Amino acid sequence: MDLRNGFDIKRYIRTIPDYPKPGVMFRDITTLLSNLHGFRAAVDELAWPFLKGEIDYVAGIEARGFILGGAVAHNLGRGFIPIRKKGKLPSRVIGQDYALEYGVDTIEMHADAISKGDRVLLVDDLIATGGTAGAAIDLIRKSGGEVVSAAFVIDLPELGGAAKLKAKGVKVHTLVSFE
Ligand code: AMP
Repeated sequence: MDLRNGFDIKRYIRTIPDYPKPGVMFRDITTLLSNLHGFRAAVDELAWPFLKGEIDYVAGIEARGFILGGAVAHNLGRGFIPIRKKGKLPSRVIGQDYALEYGVDTIEMHADAISKGDRVLLVDDLIATGGTAGAAIDLIRKSGGEVVSAAFVIDLPELGGAAKLKAKGVKVHTLVSFE
């Protein structure tokens, strides 16, 4: 897929079959990040719809959402908020559980990171079922924040995550998709 600036992001995403378990096609963005043009194109493409300044913060989901979200925040001239796995943040946190294929996981955010009415752009590398991003949206909303949009490099549309976020009233911005 050719993007606005003509850089083919998809070409630089490496696929590792059967990682981390049989049947999963792991979409590895490390090969995109290590290419200077690739990293810049991905960050610019994630950020451009928000250049007019309608957001207050970028929130990124651990771990690959930190790399992309931090760069998008810098690009937009906004602060960055980390959303982390349980037990990693040092101050008072709020948490949100979400369902995994087998069991439950929890993500956390500092309780004072977002104030009522703050407009937040959520960033991660990939949306699959939307479980992780959906929990992050619930967490931001619990703090009184408004999720203006959620942005991902990769969409796996067959898994329905983007549709799930749209049903929650969140605009979804993705750069490439894989079947
Ligand atoms: P989900 O909660 O199902 O939307 O899964 C999204 C999260 O899991 C993201 O943080 C991704 O980094 C990771 N993930 C899920 N599926 C894949 C995949 N096929 N390749 C790479 N990362 C994945």
